[in-house]
Amino acid sequence: MSNGLPGGIKHVSELAVEGRRVFVRVDYNVPLSKDKRVTDDARIAATLPTLKHLLDRGARVILGSHFGRPDGKVNPQYSMEPIAARLADLLKVDVTLADEPVGDGARKVVNDVRDGHVAMLENLRFDPGEEANDETFARTLASYCDVYVNDAFGTAHRAHASTAGMVKFVAEKGAGFVMAKEIEVLSRLLGNVDRPYLAVVGGAKVSDKIEVLDALLERVNAIVIGGAIANTFLEANGKQLGKSRVEREKLPVARNFLRKAVERGVVVHLPTDVVVATGLEATEASVASVDGIGAEQMALDIGPQTITAFADVVTQARTVFWNGPMGVFEKPLFEKGTMAIARAMAANKMALTVVGGGDSAAAIAQAGLVASVTHVSTGGGASLEFVQGIDLSGIAALRG
Ligand code: ADP
Ligand code: MG
Repeated sequence: MSNGLPGGIKHVSELAVEGRRVFVRVDYNVPLSKDKRVTDDARIAATLPTLKHLLDRGARVILGSHFGRPDGKVNPQYSMEPIAARLADLLKVDVTLADEPVGDGARKVVNDVRDGHVAMLENLRFDPGEEANDETFARTLASYCDVYVNDAFGTAHRAHASTAGMVKFVAEKGAGFVMAKEIEVLSRLLGNVDRPYLAVVGGAKVSDKIEVLDALLERVNAIVIGGAIANTFLEANGKQLGKSRVEREKLPVARNFLRKAVERGVVVHLPTDVVVATGLEATEASVASVDGIGAEQMALDIGPQTITAFADVVTQARTVFWNGPMGVFEKPLFEKGTMAIARAMAANKMALTVVGGGDSAAAIAQAGLVASVTHVSTGGGASLEFVQGIDLSGIAALRG
C-alpha cells in the first residue's frame, strides 16, 4: 500500500520503463471542430504528467486511444491525426502516427520509436477487435510493448481489447497519473469516510441514476435530489408538476426508493421550491412552491429556499459526492441552483468533495471551481460505476 493504490495496483513511477516500449492507453476522445481542430484539449493535457514522466525516464511511448464511433471500420473522419498534432504541440516532442491501429505499418512505427520518443496508433476502433475485445487483436497490441500503462479512466468501465484484453499478455502493468488519482480518491468514497456522508444527485433521467442512488443508499447519511429527476420523486410524493419533465413509468421505482431510504434512516432532501418557466427557451422565469406549480409551467431549476437548504446540508457534510446538475445549468436563467451547489462544495474545506459525471464536471468548470474541490472525475459513466462499488474491467486488469 506504499503508493495509496488498493489491490496491489502499481503506479507508473514503480514500473521499470527505461529504454522499454510502454503502451499507454489514453482517452483522447476529444471534441473537434468542422475543420478538424481540437476545440477542448483537456483530455490530452490531462495525460501530460504521465507522458512526461515516461519520456524523462527514457521510455519509448506508444499511445492507443479510441476517437468517436467508427464502428470497427476505417473512416478518415475519425483519424487521430489532429489529435496527434495537438499532443505534439503540448508535449513539444514529435509524435509519429501509424496509419492503422495494427498491421505491418503499425508494427514498423512501433519498432522505429526511439528512447524518449512517442508513437501513436491510429484510432483503435477502426478495428472491430477493439470493442469486441478480440483475443487476436489484443495479443497483437500486447506484442507492441513490454509495459502497459492505463491512463484512460473514462473508458475503464468498458472491457475492450486496449483497456482489458491486452493487459494479461503484457508482463508489467500499472496506472498512469490520471488513473491513479481517480482510483485513490474514488476508493476513499467506498471506505470509512468522515461523516456525515452526503450524496447530491441531480441530472436528467431517473433511469440513468437509480442504480447509483440505490448503491449510495447503502453508504450515505443523506441524499439531496435536484434536477429533472427530482420531479419524478416529487410526483411520487403527490405533487403536481405541470409540464415539467416527469418519468411516469419510474414512479413506482421512485416510491420504492423513498421507502427504502426511510427504512435505512437515510434522509432524502427534495426541493421545496423551484424555478419555473413556460419552456427551455423562455426568457423569463419565476419561483414557485412545489405545492403551487402551474399546469403550464416547467420546473427547470431548484428555487432560492431549496438552494439555502441544500447548501446548508452540503456545508455540514464531511464527505460529499455530487453527480447531476440541479437544473438546466446550460442556460443562465436556470443555472443558479447548480452554481450554488458548486460554491457550497468548494467552500467546505473540512470535507472530501468529489464531482462525477460529464455534465456535472462541466458545471463545476462553468463555476470556475475545479481547483477548489478535492476531485473532479474525468470519467462520467466510469465514476458512477466506481462509486457503486463495481469493479471496473480496466482497473481489475491492472491488478496482480
Ligand atoms: P451528468 O452528466 O453529470 O451525469 P446528467 O447527464 O444526468 O448529468 O444530466 C445533465 C442534464 O440534465 C443537463 O443537460 C441539464 O440541462 C439537465 N437537467 C437538469 N435539471 C433539469 C430539469 N429540471 N429539467 C430538464 N432538464 C434538466
Ligand atoms: Mg450527462
